[in-house]
Amino acid sequence: MLLLIAAIGAGLFVFTSPEFERSKPEVSLVGNNGYWNLKTPLVFQLDDESGLKSYTVTLKDGATSYDLGHEQFVEPKHDVLVRAEVPESVSQLKTNEVVITVEAADASKWNFLSGNVRKHEFPLIIDTKRPLVSIITNSYGIGKGGSALVVYSVADPNLRDFHVETKTGERFKGQPFFKEGFFVSLIAWPVTVDDFGATLVAEDEAGNVSKASISLYLKEVDYRTRELTLSERYLEGKIRELAQEYHETQGVEGRIEQFKIINEEVRAANESLIQETTSHVPDEMIDTFSINAMYPLRNGKILGDFGDHRYYRYEGKRVSESYHLGLDMASVKQAQITPQNGGEVVFADENGIYGNMPIIHHGMGLYTLYGHCSMIHVKAGDRVEANAVIANTGVTGSVLGDHLHFGVVVQGIDVRPQEWMDEQWIRLNITDVMDEAKERINRLGDS
Ligand SMILES: [Zn+2]
Repeated sequence: MLLLIAAIGAGLFVFTSPEFERSKPEVSLVGNNGYWNLKTPLVFQLDDESGLKSYTVTLKDGATSYDLGHEQFVEPKHDVLVRAEVPESVSQLKTNEVVITVEAADASKWNFLSGNVRKHEFPLIIDTKRPLVSIITNSYGIGKGGSALVVYSVADPNLRDFHVETKTGERFKGQPFFKEGFFVSLIAWPVTVDDFGATLVAEDEAGNVSKASISLYLKEVDYRTRELTLSERYLEGKIRELAQEYHETQGVEGRIEQFKIINEEVRAANESLIQETTSHVPDEMIDTFSINAMYPLRNGKILGDFGDHRYYRYEGKRVSESYHLGLDMASVKQAQITPQNGGEVVFADENGIYGNMPIIHHGMGLYTLYGHCSMIHVKAGDRVEANAVIANTGVTGSVLGDHLHFGVVVQGIDVRPQEWMDEQWIRLNITDVMDEAKERINRLGDS
């Protein structure tokens, strides 16, 4: 009887003691999506309740096995990170589908003291080739604050992402163009950036990266710095009125403080709404893009230029600043706004200092926006024809006199409207470049 009790007691002890735990080690592969370029080490995370005793990492390439690492621990170890690399002697694998096996044993006394063993297999696709990228053609140059077009090809069996990237980190997506594997991007040189450069970047699932720099003649454009004195009429009228409306200015009494918040915080929020609304690029294939020279206000006189760096003065001191990212045009009060290009209305609502503001997408990530309208005659989702009356000018938002704030946006970046108002510029920089790209692509197909 005593022996039996002792046996049951011993059994219970073994069953409940942490020294005899029965759970296998945990094994995971960190930050990997199933592809491997053989360059970046694989990182495995190993852990166990009672600590790890040993592990082995093996790569199986058909019939051949390679040891990628193994270790025996004198003391049980927790939270082990294993960085596995292919031995330097191996330069080429026989297949591009391999299996990595991680075997880990813990320090438990279970299993007649041999511990619990986890054997985990990770199938991986080996891809050591970088994407193939090539610039087919592009606009000859780009002006500061302006736009350009680039056509290129990208190919990789495991392509993950590609885009045109500027020196300052702006990214422009591509739209499929003309034939499989070719893409077109409109790109922009932000007016607030002095040093411009653009590179096509492509990356595959295994992390192989290719780059091709886009050769563009850089044209300096002179932009003005303007000193504007805040008038009593503006501060007491428009600013007081807007301060009541915006939540950012609730509880703020000082007129200059109100102005600063409206010109800085509210403006930033309004501009980020514009940026989000205008960042989409369609993914259906196109083979033409025809755009008419823009002049949305008949007999409109230009009152304020794009790219003006505005400083606002009060009692002789600069109190705030901003960049003017559109062209101000005025004719008669509540004049009809008639864009020369059709498209899809993507926004038609009030947007802070921009007032009532419709935005139209003309394709390829090219958008136009119309600020300070008194009335909008379209709604988001509408398709509008060229020369339709979409709105009337007005004084909504942060303005004094009736005018139109006309903006052109390329994938979220405000650009110089004058280029898109110039038929010859459009032909040389957009239409001709696309035609030339098609010719080159056709010739590539012949060879
Ligand atoms: Zn304006």
